[in-house]
Amino acid sequence: MSEKSFCLIGHPLGHTMSPFIHEQLFASSGVKGHYGVMDIAPDRFDFSLASLMSMDGFNITIPYKQRIIQAVNRLDRSAKLCGAVNTVSCGRESVGYNTDMYGFIGALEHAGISLCDKILICGAGGAARAVAFAAALSRCELLIAVRRGSEEKGELLCREIAEKLPDTHAKAILHDDIDSIDGHFSLAVNATPVGMYPHVGASVLTEDQILRCNAVYDLIYNPRKTELIKIAEKHGIKCDSGMSMLVMQAAKSHEIWYGAKFDNDTIAQITADAEDEMQRIFAGGGAE
Ligand code: NAP
Repeated sequence: MSEKSFCLIGHPLGHTMSPFIHEQLFASSGVKGHYGVMDIAPDRFDFSLASLMSMDGFNITIPYKQRIIQAVNRLDRSAKLCGAVNTVSCGRESVGYNTDMYGFIGALEHAGISLCDKILICGAGGAARAVAFAAALSRCELLIAVRRGSEEKGELLCREIAEKLPDTHAKAILHDDIDSIDGHFSLAVNATPVGMYPHVGASVLTEDQILRCNAVYDLIYNPRKTELIKIAEKHGIKCDSGMSMLVMQAAKSHEIWYGAKFDNDTIAQITADAEDEMQRIFAGGGAE
């Protein structure tokens, strides 16, 4: 079988775990594939499209997740909902997908965390959108917590969710107002960079707020255990951090590109290997 060709595009591209994870996925599926990285300057984006579309597929990161939408023939439902594309399959027609949504759902299943009832999502950026639409599809009640100054961003996301999925109940609140909400959250999700390397001591939620959650998922994967996860663990609250989602969304790309399926053990092994690799890269720094 000839080698399949894939890559990640973005700008600027610093260190990325993607090649490591995708090479592991190729090795597990027994498919010969190469996964490259292409840092494309904004003024070169249009010129690069022809060569990208001649590949078997590619992933997209900041700042091209919206710009690529015009370049594909068709959008999958995930991309239509999230309004962003992070995976393209090429061929007779090019199709854009958002695998972050699938990755988040898969990561929760993997951790034994249910996506139901009342969900608190911290942040209203790109990753929060994927989380919010995944939760909205599962008919959860959503509270989207934003920092002061970003109220409009939170409200816009809630309005968009209501338009696309009218049965959903989504409300934007300020982080400062979380304490005024009654009762427990079935799940709290950190979709902000708070607690990410090198600012590892910070947690987006206070200990008291974490104690009101049945489960916690932190999208951050560097460090392996954020302050938020450490507090949740200390209290025996079910939790997991973002590497599982990163691996799951990559695995979904392989399913889209050539029909690969990966069992739970394989995903767990690649997640652990990716965490070790990250620790090796950041030795003495953020990874712990
Ligand atoms: P983004 O589009 O820049 O959005 C970040 C969000 O966090 C915005 O709502 C921003 O609010 C908010 N925020 C930033 N600093 C904050 C602070 N100090 N306090 C409260 N809120 C703050 O970024 P993103 O792409 O969504 O990524 C968010 C995080 O998820 C990053 O840590 C990223 O590494 C992680 N991530 C993980 C995965 C995975 O697969 N595990 C995938 C994607 C992203 P403003 O609008 O006010 O700036």
